[in-house]
Amino acid sequence: MIKKTEASFITNGNLKKKMSLLFSLIPEKRSLVMFALAVLFSVLLVGCPAAKDKTKTTPPVDKENTSEKQLDENNGESSGSEKPVKATKELVMAEIWNTVEKAKSSCDLNLQKAEEFRKKILNVGEKRTEENTLKPLNMLFVHLDRMLPMAELISNTHPKKSVRKAAEECEQRAKKYASELKLDREVYDAIKAVEEKGLDAYAARFRTHILRDYRRAGVDKDEKTRKKLSEIQQKMVKLGQDFARNIREDKKSIQVTKKELAGLPDDFIKARTKDKETKITITTEYPDFFPVQAYAKDHKLRQRLYKLYLQRAYPVNEKVLKQILELRHEYATTLGFSDWADYNAEDKMVKNKKVISDFIDKVSGLAKPRMNADLKDILTRKKKDYRRARSVQSWDRFYYVKKIQAERYGVKPDEVRAYFPFKSVKEGLMKISQELFGVRFKRVEDAEVWHPKVETYDIYEGDKMIARFYLDLHPREGKYGHAAEFPILSGVNNIQVPTAALVTNFPDPDKSEHALTEHNQVTTFFHEFGHLMHQLLSGRKDWVTQSGINCEWDFVEVPSQLFEEWAWDQKVLARFAKHYETGDPIPEGLVEKMRKADEFGKGIHVMRQMFYAGLSLNYHNKDPKNMDLMKEMLAVGKRYNPYPHIKETATFASFGHLSGYSSMYYTYMWSLVISKDLFKKFQEAGLMNKEVATAYKNTIIEPGGAVDAAKMVENFLGRPYSFAAFQKWLQKN
Ligand SMILES: [Zn+2]
Repeated sequence: MIKKTEASFITNGNLKKKMSLLFSLIPEKRSLVMFALAVLFSVLLVGCPAAKDKTKTTPPVDKENTSEKQLDENNGESSGSEKPVKATKELVMAEIWNTVEKAKSSCDLNLQKAEEFRKKILNVGEKRTEENTLKPLNMLFVHLDRMLPMAELISNTHPKKSVRKAAEECEQRAKKYASELKLDREVYDAIKAVEEKGLDAYAARFRTHILRDYRRAGVDKDEKTRKKLSEIQQKMVKLGQDFARNIREDKKSIQVTKKELAGLPDDFIKARTKDKETKITITTEYPDFFPVQAYAKDHKLRQRLYKLYLQRAYPVNEKVLKQILELRHEYATTLGFSDWADYNAEDKMVKNKKVISDFIDKVSGLAKPRMNADLKDILTRKKKDYRRARSVQSWDRFYYVKKIQAERYGVKPDEVRAYFPFKSVKEGLMKISQELFGVRFKRVEDAEVWHPKVETYDIYEGDKMIARFYLDLHPREGKYGHAAEFPILSGVNNIQVPTAALVTNFPDPDKSEHALTEHNQVTTFFHEFGHLMHQLLSGRKDWVTQSGINCEWDFVEVPSQLFEEWAWDQKVLARFAKHYETGDPIPEGLVEKMRKADEFGKGIHVMRQMFYAGLSLNYHNKDPKNMDLMKEMLAVGKRYNPYPHIKETATFASFGHLSGYSSMYYTYMWSLVISKDLFKKFQEAGLMNKEVATAYKNTIIEPGGAVDAAKMVENFLGRPYSFAAFQKWLQKN
């Protein structure tokens, strides 16, 4: 997963799209964060999102203590049968950690509360019930939810280093607590002792999923085995950090002349030119790497940099990865699974590794002819520059895909950008979201935020405030460098208001007059907003683990990838994409050209994704003891990778997803298949069709983690999902 990088290169930074070309769908951004959270919680519970701080009520300040106490007691105790608390006003709202003290006190309080609820669970002397066991457990998770996500947000965005550090410290403490909890046999036995009979469907689901996650952590094993699992776990965490750090810290660079940079935008060159020096330093960091790959005419330069890029963390990470794979295998087999891939698939839509490998085979089977056609086109074009060219190489891919898109379809980035002044994009997106989901956003001027530029909005349904979100949209020093949705508080009925933030790095209207935005940034904005709506509109649940984006991990990218489609629709775009000088809406012909250009390169893109997915699976679906990582990679590459291997490089060493996603890289494409299927219904009825949108909200968005993903899809489509729409998309010219 990609961590921070600085800034947008070139004025309007294509950075993200480029990244997404490379690793592809990696919207990494957001989902990374979620990921981290999910991993962390799943350790502990059902993989819940999370959130933040401690709490309080918004309005009267002095109410804080009372209301928290009241809430906890009403919910956690078996005593009161009456419904907790009263109205919205009493609900806990997120409180931003703006000082070191605040971060610390919030962390202390929530850990203490969590521990109180744990004790409460253990101290039940009578027959175990939903009231005396499951509800306190829910509250225990609520308190973790008030720390972990807030810590994640603040450590990534707060302008003060000391506060970021305090947030990180809290994160470590909370994670430690969580990982001990997941091996807490007494708590597990207590939950198990609650009879399923008599529970409603949601309470039963809560119980079943928690038990599953506990079992997946090995809580039901004997003491010695649990100790072993815990040790493996700790080693895996440490090695995972090493793996990521080795990639992050291995910044390589080359010296080039201005002449070699021909093709790159002037501002790119100027920003890197130092007085008196004739040579310019170009690094393997994204803001250098992607522009060079996309624009440098000199293929030798692209080649040099690409090779260097694929040498990052090599050979050091070979050993680290090997150890990680061995530990994962040991962990999974100790728990009774045949390997890590099967273990990891159990709580996803796919359920087992066979489904993943069938999926990869099916997608790559469909994409291969398309890939071959793409490669042929690229080679033909490359021969115009180099008569003797015989093959298409990795370092050709960004450059020639872009070239062909421009030459064949006449799409000029400047022309497109003129229709996307940032303010109109933002307003347009917000209006469309309100209309589609039947809600109203209201700006809150006086809310506490972590930086003066952050905006706060409340979401209303009718007169009722149902959620809150923050927009932190523009780059600044020390801030998270990608685009991500950060959960802050998971909504829980009568307890706390669903809250989340979007953290992005789009052009800033305060810095340049119109802040013209690249179209791929517009689609990113829609993508992240799709996550945001999913997170917030699914926030009315009794059980915290069913709130927000707590569906199966391989379903998470469905609402976000689906919402990107709105940014490609002429009628939708015409609402807000207006020329910054003339005010004319974007012409139909231009959108058509953009769409056609976007079709080119789909085959190589999908196959490249399958290469990553295949690598991620094949490192985890067998005993790695005698595995040669390089040989395995070359074998997978032969089947899927559109480009020849580059000697003396090792993709696996810098493939960061191997640490966070392990065997699950397939999830992006899996979600895309489903989102293409869902989209058909909108296509037929019109993207802004109220009836379809309402059905979508009710069946896909609102359920959050309360319903199995496959069931949600069936509820919306009236049938199980199918491959047909994806196949049609893939084969369309
Ligand atoms: Zn995403």
